[in-house]
Amino acid sequence: MPTRSRATALWVKETFKQNRSMLSWMVPPDGLTAAGTTDRGADRVIKTWYRILHLGLLIAAGAAPAEAATAAQVVHVRLSMSNVYLLKGARGPVLVDSGSKNEMAPLVAALAEEGVRIEDLRAVILTHGHADHAGLAAEIRRRSGAVLIAGRGDRLMMAAGVNDPVTPTGLFARLILMFPLDARYEPFSADIEVDTELDLSVYGLAGRALPMPGHTPGSLVVVLDDGRAFVGDMILGGWLGGALFPHRAGEHYFHQNVAQNHANIVALAKRPIRQYFLGHGGPVSAQSVRENFALGAVVH
Ligand SMILES: [Zn+2]
Repeated sequence: MPTRSRATALWVKETFKQNRSMLSWMVPPDGLTAAGTTDRGADRVIKTWYRILHLGLLIAAGAAPAEAATAAQVVHVRLSMSNVYLLKGARGPVLVDSGSKNEMAPLVAALAEEGVRIEDLRAVILTHGHADHAGLAAEIRRRSGAVLIAGRGDRLMMAAGVNDPVTPTGLFARLILMFPLDARYEPFSADIEVDTELDLSVYGLAGRALPMPGHTPGSLVVVLDDGRAFVGDMILGGWLGGALFPHRAGEHYFHQNVAQNHANIVALAKRPIRQYFLGHGGPVSAQSVRENFALGAVVH
C-alpha cells in the first residue's frame, strides 16, 4: 500500500533524525576512503558497505535478546518404558527425565538425530525418582557433568536406587503389580534438590520447576512460560502405558498419595497451561485434562 510505505519511510526518517546522536556511530568517518584513489564512486561503495555492516551489527544486537526469550524447542523422545524430553534451551540442551537404566543406546540415538550428544547436556530435571524416569541420571552426569535437579522428597529413594512401594489406583494397576518389574537403578544424589519454586532461566529456559508431591514425595513439574508443562506421572496418557489413545488424559496406575496428586492437577489447571507432556503417552491438552478429571469449570 503506497500510503503505508510512505508513512513507514517517514517514520524511519524521523526516527533517524531524532536519534541522530545515538546512531552517529553508523556514519562513516571522514577519513574512510578507498585506499590510494580519489575515485568518488569507490568512496561511495566503501561508505555504503560501512553502513550495511553497522546496520547488520545493530540488528544482530537487537536480535540476541529476542533469541534468548524464544520458546525452547521440545523433542519428544519415546523410549520403550517412558518418555524423555529434550529441551533445546538458549544455554544448551536440557533433559526432562533420563529414562530407564537399559535405554542408554536408544536415548543416545534419539539425541544424535537432534545433533546432541550426552556429553553436551547441561542439566537433567527429574520429575521423580522412579526407575523408568531417573534410571540413567547417574550415568548421564558421569559422562556430561550435567546438573541433576530433583525434588527433595525423593532424596532417600534416589540414594537407595530403588522404587518406593507404590499405591495402585485401580484394578489394572493391581494386575501390573503381580508381574515383577526391576525397580532398581544406579543410586545418586541430586545436585539441586527442589523444595520450593526453582527459576530455570539459568539453564536457558523461560520457566520454573515446581515441587508437587503426590505421585511420589519428591515429584516436581516443569512449567514453561509459554504454556507447556512436563508433569511426569502426575497424569497418564491413554491406555496400556500410552499404547492406545495416548492423547487422552487419565489416572496413572500408581501414586504415593492419590488425593494430593489430584489436588496438584487442579492447581495446574488454574494456570495458563495449554499442553501437558507426560511420562507415558501424551502429550495431552488442557481440555483433555479438564474433561477426564472432571474439573468442570476450572478456569485460568
Ligand atoms: Zn512414576
